[in-house]
Amino acid sequence: MTFEELKLAEPLLRAVTAEGYTIPTPIQVQAIPPAMEGRDVLGCAQTGTGKTAAFALPILQRLSVGRPVPPAQGRPIRALILTPTRELASQIAESFQAYGRFTKLSWAVIFGGVGQNAQEQTLRRGVDVLVATPGRLLDLMNQGFVSYKALEVFVLDEADRMLDMGFIHDVKRVIAKLPTKRQTLFFSATMPPEIQQLSRGILTNPAKVEVVPQSTTAETVDQRMYFVEREQKRHLLVHLMGDAGISRALVFTRTKHGANRVTKQLVAARISAEAIHGNKSQNARERALDAFKDGSCRVLVATDIAARGIDIDGITHVINFDLPNIPESYVHRIGRTGRAGASGTALSFCDGEERAYLKDIERTIRRQVPVVADHPFRPGSPGAAVSSPDPAGPDREGQRSSRGGQRRSGGGQRSGESRGGGAQAHGPRGGGRGGRGQSRSGGGGGRQSQGHRSSESRGSSAAAPAPAQPAARPPPVRTAPKWL
Ligand code: AMP
Repeated sequence: MTFEELKLAEPLLRAVTAEGYTIPTPIQVQAIPPAMEGRDVLGCAQTGTGKTAAFALPILQRLSVGRPVPPAQGRPIRALILTPTRELASQIAESFQAYGRFTKLSWAVIFGGVGQNAQEQTLRRGVDVLVATPGRLLDLMNQGFVSYKALEVFVLDEADRMLDMGFIHDVKRVIAKLPTKRQTLFFSATMPPEIQQLSRGILTNPAKVEVVPQSTTAETVDQRMYFVEREQKRHLLVHLMGDAGISRALVFTRTKHGANRVTKQLVAARISAEAIHGNKSQNARERALDAFKDGSCRVLVATDIAARGIDIDGITHVINFDLPNIPESYVHRIGRTGRAGASGTALSFCDGEERAYLKDIERTIRRQVPVVADHPFRPGSPGAAVSSPDPAGPDREGQRSSRGGQRRSGGGQRSGESRGGGAQAHGPRGGGRGGRGQSRSGGGGGRQSQGHRSSESRGSSAAAPAPAQPAARPPPVRTAPKWL
């Protein structure tokens, strides 16, 4: 399938060629035809699959082909894209800039955290396509700056993340003000019950499109598994961070609370770390990301949902502090390192109760992850018996009740995203997008260099990293832990 076969208009074909795209991605192949027919679309896909073009190209085509050029001033909003975060809103606006550069349409992005004046002016002038985060949009709507009289297309992007961040009520309030006669394109990476219900309420006979979750891991990522009891994971993490080679590490935890706790533990061990998750304000997330990108923060601790859509180059290590209960999340997580042919390392901690997740992961990726059998915190080793007080306080996550279930929707208060300001209007002029917030700056560097790090097959001994603080090294074990 080619873009020509998708029957895209010439200015759009020219733009995708200028972007360097040769063939459409699977979500584009599936979603563009029904969207161009004017049908509603329910897309199960996440950022990174090319889904922005999957909705942006049909919108640009619909609003431009065979339609008179809109007036320079007072253009009514004809397409609204609602997305949960400022970063995503900016990325989507950049995509419209890239794909719509040879059309005469205009677009603007509005989000919280910055002054409102520029956004008011932009809305007064008028735009064809408005990309917005829900809180700020509602504020402007309530002040009478937004009219949906001419709205033709509504896109709800990252619906499950809206729920996770506590924005779902704002989203519903916005939807209540939209004309009922419209085309709706609905995207979510997962479909928890609340999101299914919402989709049923706002879509009419949608074309359902789904991108099969990725199940192969990049060859460029060196994967290793550490068996460790749960309460020893934090010690193992600090120990591993003694490797100066770990200059930019993305650590995944299953819960928001877990992300906070691991961050505190790292900071207490003098390792610069920041947490990002749905309960953090937009400003706090941005600060954390900036620090991670510029290397002043060595470790970013994230939940799956918060890390989604964040595009950061140069991540040397992905560390699965908790194994994900959805195998595809493992693939997605470790794909954050080893990008663009660079090498990367994925270290995973597996406790006794996570064995079932490991089995699922290995079945999905169709390979065994090599085990580092020799480390000071392996079950039953002297190191594992040493336990210092948790600087982050007692483990309140305690019970395993949340395990094994579907991804849960978080409650999350509304974050700073929704109550700030900030607008950028774009017209058809100008070049393509200026990158996706990527950073290639070097990392912060660790405290001490570490020797060779090899790993071997499951059950055999492997050289373990030198501890940050020289600790008594127990002899290598050659047998797997009891619970294996
Ligand atoms: P998205 O999921 O929309 O955030 O897109 C992820 C990345 O894929 C972006 O960097 C896009 O520029 C890129 N992309 C989107 N469509 C294509 C395509 N057909 N070919 C190559 N790259 C693409």
